[in-house]
Amino acid sequence: MSWHATVLTLFPEMFPGPLGLSLAGRALEEGRWSIETHDIRTHGLGRHRNVDDTPFGGGAGMVMRPDVIGSAIAAHRPAGDPRPLVYLTPRGRLFRQEDAARFAAGPGVMLLCGRYEGLDQRVIEEAGVEEISIGDYVLSGGEPAALVLLDACLRLLPGVMGGETSAEEESFADGLLEYPHYTRPAEWNDRPVPPVLLSGDHGAIRAWRRAQAEEATRLRRPDLWAAHLSRRMAGRPSPQDMTGSVATASAGP
Ligand code: SAM
Repeated sequence: MSWHATVLTLFPEMFPGPLGLSLAGRALEEGRWSIETHDIRTHGLGRHRNVDDTPFGGGAGMVMRPDVIGSAIAAHRPAGDPRPLVYLTPRGRLFRQEDAARFAAGPGVMLLCGRYEGLDQRVIEEAGVEEISIGDYVLSGGEPAALVLLDACLRLLPGVMGGETSAEEESFADGLLEYPHYTRPAEWNDRPVPPVLLSGDHGAIRAWRRAQAEEATRLRRPDLWAAHLSRRMAGRPSPQDMTGSVATASAGP
């Protein structure tokens, strides 16, 4: 059975959207993954199919009702469904590459897209939802966040990326940002590519790339760099260290 995504949303027409194109789109056509979307409004109440109401305690905006969301989940989540149920929310834990890898390794995901001020807290607790944020900013709805999460998972599925990229070498794969890339021409606008990349010396190239990855991480992402250093100090080597690649940069935090 292929990797399967179920999305509960007020805007089902947003899916598969960009995921119907390029690598994910081809993989969708090939049946490597599948997606079903369900309109939360079909579970809405009354003649107008209301899905939201004013917040208890006052304040701006509207809140998605727990009874409506609860019935949407119950209708589309089979008993014993092993897939994680994820609510995209800025209040969630930050989405990371390891989450994408974890989801991609399983049978799929079920995603809940919020609108307005978000979901009533009780349905989040009742349904055993994993709350995930895609970054420290506020979107107008969970749909773009769901597309981001799915994209990150889909490219890790077997056969989706083909030989085009190596997931093991990409940013975050071993807790570091990736090294910079260069291609032809060897000189452009008086800018030559770093000579080591033309040397044919694969050991030197590997060492240079590793040093560049470490330097970029140290300068751009002190949070990742600190985690990398503490892993090292605790004697937990990164996957690249374990394969014998040379680690050269040794600048402090
Ligand atoms: N009142 C909420 C808050 O301040 O945390 C923001 C609600 S937002 C306008 C509406 C919906 O967009 C949320 O329920 C959520 O599903 C989605 N959303 C917004 N920002 C997000 C983010 N950074 N990550 C994931 N989902 C997000």
